[in-house]
Amino acid sequence: MLVPLRKILKQSQRGKYALGAFNTHNLEITKGIIQGAVDAHAPIIIQVTESTINYAGLQAITQIIKVIANDSLTKVPIALHLDHGKKFSTVVACIKAGFSSVMIDASALSWKENVKLTKQVVKYAHQRNVLVQAELGHIGKEGVDTRQVILRPEKYLTNPDDAVEFVKLTHIDTLAVAIGNVHGIYKLRHGVPKIHLNRLAKIAQKVKIPFVLHGASGISDKEIKQAIKLGVGIINIDSELRMTFAEAIRKILRVRKQLVDPRAILLSGERAVRERVMRKIKLFGSFNKAK
Ligand SMILES: [Zn+2]
Repeated sequence: MLVPLRKILKQSQRGKYALGAFNTHNLEITKGIIQGAVDAHAPIIIQVTESTINYAGLQAITQIIKVIANDSLTKVPIALHLDHGKKFSTVVACIKAGFSSVMIDASALSWKENVKLTKQVVKYAHQRNVLVQAELGHIGKEGVDTRQVILRPEKYLTNPDDAVEFVKLTHIDTLAVAIGNVHGIYKLRHGVPKIHLNRLAKIAQKVKIPFVLHGASGISDKEIKQAIKLGVGIINIDSELRMTFAEAIRKILRVRKQLVDPRAILLSGERAVRERVMRKIKLFGSFNKAK
């Protein structure tokens, strides 16, 4: 069932496990994610970005998620979150549509502008009992950024003192940290970035809100487990699900050349997503934690 993020985040913090935050784009990926959570009997976050909202339409994708999450057979708690919201208007639209958590990503702006926009979002969201995630430092994008993050970590990583100040000024609920993590699939071609767990430990000494790890596809299981111990409470998985979905579809079309039924084609992707979500949930420690 659809629940406020506040509720499952509190339980996960107490239980010292992380919540998987899985990005969806359509009906089949939504079904796959939710089925994976049901199989694992786990609480999860399901999230969309602005580009997915542009692709599917806010009402369409929200209703798909809500209807499946609230189905009587879906006996696991699911929270709905906006990932990488860039505009205040998107935040407002998502909160009106029933999201219980939003990210405002103003990390590309100056410090002053980031603080200003984040404060504006927090004020609006908290009045409506909605949680806010913000980003500090710079979580790179696939490709060129990967090399930059590897070569010049100081420029990109979250500064612990800045994080303290930022949280104090804005009153955000969760913080997306930049600790060498990079978004996207192509990073695998440019080398997996080094995750600076020492930096995370330093931030954790000073900042006491849950951290969110973006760009987690390709980070080793060992590092993920250590990051959870150091305060990462939410782990975003997007690229890995896209790859899983696409590979399954590519395979079935290659093997069954006459296949034209879109349901059969897309169901192969859905099943692969379902299995991958289950695997991630086990890694994050949230297996069997649905209450
Ligand atoms: Zn992200």
